Amino acid sequence: MAVSEFQLIERYFTDAGVPRDDVVWGVGDDAAILSLPAGHELVVSTDTLVAGVHFFADVDPVSLGHKALAVNLSDLAAMGAQPAWVMLALTLPQVDEQWLCGFSQGFSSLACQHGVQLIGGDTTRGPLSITVQAMGFVKQGAAWRRDAATPGDLIYVTGTLGDAGLALQIRERRLPFVQHHCDELLRRLERPTPRNVEALALNGLVNAAIDLSDGLLSDLRHILKASEVGAELNLAALPLSSAFNACQRDECNEQLSSELWQALPLSAGDDYELCFTIAAEKQDEVEQQLSQHGLIAHRIGVIDNGPGLRCVLSNGELYQAQQSGYEHFQGAPGVDEQVNER
Ligand code: ADP
Ligand code: MG
Repeated sequence: MAVSEFQLIERYFTDAGVPRDDVVWGVGDDAAILSLPAGHELVVSTDTLVAGVHFFADVDPVSLGHKALAVNLSDLAAMGAQPAWVMLALTLPQVDEQWLCGFSQGFSSLACQHGVQLIGGDTTRGPLSITVQAMGFVKQGAAWRRDAATPGDLIYVTGTLGDAGLALQIRERRLPFVQHHCDELLRRLERPTPRNVEALALNGLVNAAIDLSDGLLSDLRHILKASEVGAELNLAALPLSSAFNACQRDECNEQLSSELWQALPLSAGDDYELCFTIAAEKQDEVEQQLSQHGLIAHRIGVIDNGPGLRCVLSNGELYQAQQSGYEHFQGAPGVDEQVNER
């Protein structure tokens, strides 16, 4: 490498994000030293993105830097944690300074938005792969766990569903969508918004939560299994973006089956929205809290005693998820490998 590993770290990855008072020692020693606020617990998560599996190798590096951090911040949001520190292990085929400059810019700008500091990592040569570890904290005992949903809880989801999945269809099949919608949808796939602001606003109000990386049905089932409960979803209440609706309405509708349009918001991954449950008596407080902060979440169903997960159509009939609905999304870059899911 023309540039040494140390120069590279110095140039692109020292002091990325926001300098924090609770970082006793960051990049530069064998390990970082952090001080955790009294009465809090550490919340830690890691995720790897591999070229060709989780992203297209030619994706814009600014977007990739953003997404590598976003998917990890999203995991902290799903625990109700305040994000604070992050580590970055980068495996690079070669030193491409233009690429590194874009990557670190996308990474650092999202880190700044969330008050996060990059406190260390590792840099190696090999096939392009990015591992991020995100750390944050919650008040003792206050984390949102998947096993805490209770019958009677209302189910909410932030943002809109199916946009990233539709963007993937557009990219893979090169569908002739109107440019305006295309850009908006591709942005949802390549630069997802982790819902940490929503998570912090809902502090103390949520029972169970999960972030939607694999698709609503698949991810919600994790909550149902861990909590040993069932759920009913109202499909008419699923929030769809205006870009999604516009695409469905225009001539491209003919190229995608109605079954696929139905399946996208339910089963396509990569939206990184938050799905959470709250006790019914907290509904007013939750909705007030969200609107006060200009945030959006929709009520989409209710937790009950089962059996399983039932999806009710607007005519009252049960929707049967078609196996082929899932198959559309299998094995595509941008969608995590579903080793144990499908
Ligand atoms: P060691 O050989 O002791 O593991 P390294 O040479 O791997 O140390 O790293 C030197 C310092 O640079 C460490 O503090 C490490 O955390 C940091 N570092 C290495 N790569 C990155 C990176 N991609 N982003 C942020 N910090 C990094
Ligand atoms: Mg090392």
